Amino acid sequence: MIAEIETEEEPQWGIRRSEKGINALAKLDGKSARVVLNEPNVSQGDEPTLSDLRKTLITVYGTDFGLRSAAYISRFTDMTRQAARYRDRRVLLAGDAAHVHSPKGGQGLNIGVQDAVNLGWKLAQVVHGTSPENLLDTYHAERHPVGARVLRNTMALTAIDRCDDRIDALREMMCELVQKDEPRKLYVAMISGLDVHYDFGNGHPLLGRRMPDLEVVTAKGPLRVFTLLHGGRPVLLNFGEAGGIEIARWASRVKVIEAKYQGVWELPALGVVAAPTAVLIRPDGYVAWAGDLTQEGLADALTTWFGPAAEG
Ligand SMILES: Cc1cc2nc3c(=O)[nH]c(=O)nc-3n(C[C@H](O)[C@H](O)[C@H](O)COP(=O)(O)OP(=O)(O)OC[C@H]3O[C@@H](n4cnc5c(N)ncnc54)[C@H](O)[C@@H]3O)c2cc1C
Repeated sequence: MIAEIETEEEPQWGIRRSEKGINALAKLDGKSARVVLNEPNVSQGDEPTLSDLRKTLITVYGTDFGLRSAAYISRFTDMTRQAARYRDRRVLLAGDAAHVHSPKGGQGLNIGVQDAVNLGWKLAQVVHGTSPENLLDTYHAERHPVGARVLRNTMALTAIDRCDDRIDALREMMCELVQKDEPRKLYVAMISGLDVHYDFGNGHPLLGRRMPDLEVVTAKGPLRVFTLLHGGRPVLLNFGEAGGIEIARWASRVKVIEAKYQGVWELPALGVVAAPTAVLIRPDGYVAWAGDLTQEGLADALTTWFGPAAEG
């Protein structure tokens, strides 16, 4: 149960772990407090009431702290479920409709938005006839494994929050581990979704990964790469010889931008990778192709992601 409450007495602030699970009271502005309480039994469909909240406070803390009112009362669970398919012909699922899990780690909204961003440009291209309908199947192929991984890591986070001697020992051990650089980087990359790697085949380590938001220099001066994606269109950044990349037959769909970048290319969890001479970035920010002085594989990547070459 989660609620924003006002009480007569000052509650016991902070997180309390006990055989009654994890319960917490946090001070908000003014007189109100945010409370998160474990209920041992929840019947589905129940609208939680002030009386339910009072009873649960008394069960956990032995007092309701003189509960006066609640601005809202809600419930959430650690229910963990995922749709078997994100696409069935004209029906596409994204966000909590596709996956639900414990809010631990704050990942649900994040991956839901990323689902939508993965799907949006693909839908637009199919609707406009630029790409064949099977482009939509890549939505499930790419996003279902990401959702499954979040279900796995939120189940682990829920388990590690339980209160018994063995789980306490496991939690302490994990806390020691994540104080080390390498495991911490892996963990943070996982929980933030910055380690997502779509399988676009072998090639440059950037392939299938989120383009780093580098500050590049273009004819318009210095700018961040992601500002180039605000239009929701693919971008081909050429760091090699100006005019050295030729994609005339996709010119109406893909913008080529001549750019310079002197710094290192560093990816979350992966670390420093070799600088490519050019990168093709999908509208969702993922690298569809990375070149090393040749254009090998570029036409295939353009066709796969942005439809067949224009005639002529
Ligand atoms: C306590 C808590 C804390 C959280 N903290 C975080 C966090 O820190 N970070 C994070 O990333 N995520 C967090 N989440 C998860 C996040 O809230 C959800 O993943 C996100 O809200 C899902 O968004 P959604 O648009 O997919 O679904 P919803 O937010 O459920 O939106 C679906 C909407 O559709 C409406 N609807 C349903 N049926 C119909 C219908 N038939 N017709 C019309 N409308 C309909 C619903 O009323 C609702 O408004 C948290 C969740 C909880 C419970």
